[in-house]
Amino acid sequence: MRLLLVEDDALLGDGIRAGLKQAGFAVDWVQDGRAAQLALETGDYALLVLDLGLPRLSGMALLKWLRGKGSVLPVLILTARDTVADRVAGLDAGADDYLIKPFDLDELVARLRALLRRSGGQAAPILQHGDIELDPAAHQVRKSGQVIELSAREFSLLHELLLNAGRVRSREQLEQHLYGWGEEVESNSVEVHIHHLRKKLGADLIRTLRGVGYIIDKT
Ligand code: CA
Repeated sequence: MRLLLVEDDALLGDGIRAGLKQAGFAVDWVQDGRAAQLALETGDYALLVLDLGLPRLSGMALLKWLRGKGSVLPVLILTARDTVADRVAGLDAGADDYLIKPFDLDELVARLRALLRRSGGQAAPILQHGDIELDPAAHQVRKSGQVIELSAREFSLLHELLLNAGRVRSREQLEQHLYGWGEEVESNSVEVHIHHLRKKLGADLIRTLRGVGYIIDKT
């Protein structure tokens, strides 16, 4: 899951990015409202984590701009301003959820997963494919009921392929999904992760379409 984090506090932003990365998100981090606008115009994100007090363009102005152009991107606002009025204004402007600083990183991750579930419009958060089940909330994959240990990137790759079952994802699309800006992409990392997924979950699950990409067939 690729996510845009907008936070001007360098220390806090760095901490949030590290925590979300560990939770399996690919994170792009910008530190002002204009940079966020540019990123949103050009990037493809599943979530936006937005600080309200930002240089160049406030979080509230950014949110109004985003909703004004019809975007339904799930937005969670981070704010130090814990007055009721600010929270109400944020929700009125189209935020889906908010957290007041300081907050617990685990709570942020749990709320983001809940937002993703709701935005996916899925009553059942668990993805099923044959004898394989992927539970985004528990960050768990089971095969015939047995829990299979996956790395964060393996999990993320499987999640992306299952969400797009029946559609080919190119290697480049999968790399973009796995890595945030500035993260070095190892040249054959997608192939390596796919190799591990096949070893753990069965050779037939993910098909390679040579020169095109990878696909999990629809069941
Ligand atoms: Ca701020």
